[in-house]
Amino acid sequence: MLHIVPALDAGLCRIRLPGGVLTAEQAHALAAAASRHASGIIEATNRANLQLRGVTAGHESALIEALLAAGLGPQAGAGSADARDNVRNVMQSPLAGRDEGTLIDTRPLTADLLTHLQSVPMFAALSPKFCILFDGGEALAATDHPHDIWLSALPADALGPRFALGLAGCPGIEGMLISVRPDQVIATVDALLHAFLRLAGPDQQRMRQLLTTHSAADILQQAQTQLGCEGKPDLSAWPRQPACGALQVGIHAQAQASGLYYVGARLPLGRMTAAQLHALADLSHGVVHFTPWQGVLLPDLSPLAAEIMATELRQLGLLTDWQSPLTRLIACAGSAGCVKSQADVKTDAVALAGLLTVPRTVHLSGCPRSCAAAHTAPWTLLAVSPGHYDLYQRSAEGRFGTRLAQQLNVEQAAGVLNRQPASPD
Ligand code: SF4
Repeated sequence: MLHIVPALDAGLCRIRLPGGVLTAEQAHALAAAASRHASGIIEATNRANLQLRGVTAGHESALIEALLAAGLGPQAGAGSADARDNVRNVMQSPLAGRDEGTLIDTRPLTADLLTHLQSVPMFAALSPKFCILFDGGEALAATDHPHDIWLSALPADALGPRFALGLAGCPGIEGMLISVRPDQVIATVDALLHAFLRLAGPDQQRMRQLLTTHSAADILQQAQTQLGCEGKPDLSAWPRQPACGALQVGIHAQAQASGLYYVGARLPLGRMTAAQLHALADLSHGVVHFTPWQGVLLPDLSPLAAEIMATELRQLGLLTDWQSPLTRLIACAGSAGCVKSQADVKTDAVALAGLLTVPRTVHLSGCPRSCAAAHTAPWTLLAVSPGHYDLYQRSAEGRFGTRLAQQLNVEQAAGVLNRQPASPD
């Protein structure tokens, strides 16, 4: 079943997209349902999922029925449909299998793992936020989003293709525990999830919480009683780099041998209308890929088709220019949609975009929960009262970094940001 949760602007319906993929047919069905049963506003999330805002009171069942009829719910199976929906949290690159940097095509593994997660009734006990990352080595990958379990492709060596595996964080040499072959992945994740559920106390919903009372080695040992994993290989040839933001938008080449291109675009502040989604479905060649950067990606285009697609996306109101200030701004629902918000961050973000003379990657958050960004952005404006923000710069300090200034209004925040030295963000 799909959930509708209360929000300040009426019900909010979250829709998980396997691998971030929405077919054109599903996009039309979802857009029609958003218009008929909700406000018509559709948001993209930082897990490459979607949510419908403003569900009309009394229309909840009809909305869910329409979405399930379009195949936008969990697979049929044993146990509760709610639980099967909750466990569908597996992320992969929106360019999985197509990116020049791909070491392992994660698409079949993502599909197999999603099926497995929904087939084990015991996994119903996992938090709906418990999330697993498959990183195939792509240049375009959200490797800065922390996950409960991550698997990241290693360069092939004499042992053949393998994934590094780590717990509670982002792919990196420091956090790597073991390496596993692709054919071991499902059994390994299954064993780790069983180990997590055996060891976790009632207040430990996420892997990072379990790691406060059990070492990674303990958890791994519990899992390894069920399978034999390979040890830690020589990682000197594994410089996993963070994704370059400019690859998220505009026209870029896919894997060289393909001769094909993709066009990426961000939704302005993560939102689109039902009419825009209908138009996107018409523009796509059958499939729209949603990204963890609250945007879309249209792949497999010739150079000419990519140019035409980029123009059409811009005409639709989507953002394809990395140098445009609005493209780089992220903002949560703010006070228009969330009781916790100290400010109307979406309206303030639009105002900020008009004042920035240097494009900056800035996250405006209505409160410290940081719903719009799982990672730490280069710059964060944390709302403290209506129209006022504390400014943070990313660093090793704290959740948002180092606090540079307090109680700034939007004009003052733009002024401080405009005076900062150029940075690659
Ligand atoms: S970050 Fe805070 S204010 Fe913004 S949507 Fe989340 S809970 Fe609400």
